[in-house]
Amino acid sequence: MNQEKIVEDVIILGTGPAGWSAALYAARAGLNPLVLTGTEIGGQVALTHIVENYPGFPDGVGGTELAELFQKNAERFGARVEYDSADQVNLKDRPFMVKTYSKEYFTKVLIVATGASPNKLNIPGEKELTGRGVSYCATCDGWFFKDKDVYVVGGGDSALEEGIFLTRYAKSVTIIHRRNQLRAGAILQERAQKNEKIKFIWNSIVTQIVGKDAVEAVVVKNVVDEQSEELPADGIFIFIGHSPNTGMFKDQLELDDKRYIVADWHMHTNIPGVFAAGEARDPHYRQVVTSAGMGAVAAIEATRYLENLE
Ligand code: NAP
Repeated sequence: MNQEKIVEDVIILGTGPAGWSAALYAARAGLNPLVLTGTEIGGQVALTHIVENYPGFPDGVGGTELAELFQKNAERFGARVEYDSADQVNLKDRPFMVKTYSKEYFTKVLIVATGASPNKLNIPGEKELTGRGVSYCATCDGWFFKDKDVYVVGGGDSALEEGIFLTRYAKSVTIIHRRNQLRAGAILQERAQKNEKIKFIWNSIVTQIVGKDAVEAVVVKNVVDEQSEELPADGIFIFIGHSPNTGMFKDQLELDDKRYIVADWHMHTNIPGVFAAGEARDPHYRQVVTSAGMGAVAAIEATRYLENLE
C-alpha cells in the first residue's frame, strides 16, 4: 500500500535567525510550519561567543544561548522541527519537493533560510583556533581584543570596514593582503590609510596560525620573494568573502553572480510561493537582527500567499 503523500503548508530550511524567526511568525499565524534544521543548527550566530548587538539583551547573550532561545520561542507556538538536512529541491512542480538523505517532503510554501558561510583560508591552525583568536566577525568578537595586536586577512570592503572597526579596541590592526592593490572602495581605503592604528602587509598570505590554546602567532609568506616570517599575534580576523549556501537552488531559483538568491523587499523569489530570507539572499548586512527581520517578513508574506491560494 502506498503511503499517503503529506503536503505541508510551509517548510522552512535553515535554523539561523532568519529560519527561527520565520518559524515563529508562521507558527503564530497558525501555519503549523515544519523546520528542517540543516547540519549547522543555529547558524553562524550559534558559533559566536557573545552577541551584544541584538536588542533586548543589555548584558549580551551567548550566541548558542540566543539560538536556543529562538528555537524555544518558535516551538512554543507550534513550529515542528526535524533534525534533517535538505540536499535537493524540486521547485518546478507543485507542491514543491524537498529531499533529504532519507526522505522526501512536500510543501505549498518554501522559505529558504540556508544562510552563508565565511570563506576559510584552509590553513593549519585555522579550524583548531576558531573562537580562540581566529574570528570571522569583528562586530561579534572585536571587544575581546582590547589593547591587543590583531591581524586582518583580505583586501575587500569587509576587511577594511571590519579592520577600521577593530581599531576601536585593538592596539594595532595589521591588514595582510595577497596583492599590492586593495579591492575595497576608495573611501574605505582612504579611511584605513589615515588610521594610525592600521598597518598593511602587501603581497602576502598567511600560511599557518600558531598557538596551543589561543592564537600566539601567524606565519606570513611574501608571495613575491617567497620569504616567510612568524609574527606574534593575539588574534586573526579573516574576511575573504562569504559564500551563500545555495548550491541546491542552482537552476531552480534566480541567483545573482555570487550565487545569492535574488529576492525583493518582500522576500519573494522568482518562483511564487518560494521566499528567501537572511544571508542566503543578503551579502550586505549580515546581522542577527536584520536576518531575523527578513525571516519575519518571509513568514508574513507566506501567510498572505497561502490565504490567496484558498
Ligand atoms: P570581496 O570583495 O570578495 O573581497 C575579498 C577579499 O579577500 C579580496 O581582497 C581577495 O583578494 C581576498 N581573498 C579572497 N580569497 C583569498 C584567499 N584565499 N587568501 C587571501 N585573500 C583572499 O569580499 P568582501 O570584502 O566580503 O565584500 C563582499 C561584497 O560586499 C562586496 O561587493 C563589497 O563591496 C560588499 N561590502 C560593502 C561594504 C560597504 O560598502 N561598506 C562593506 C562590506 C562588504 P583579491 O582582491 O586579490 O581578490
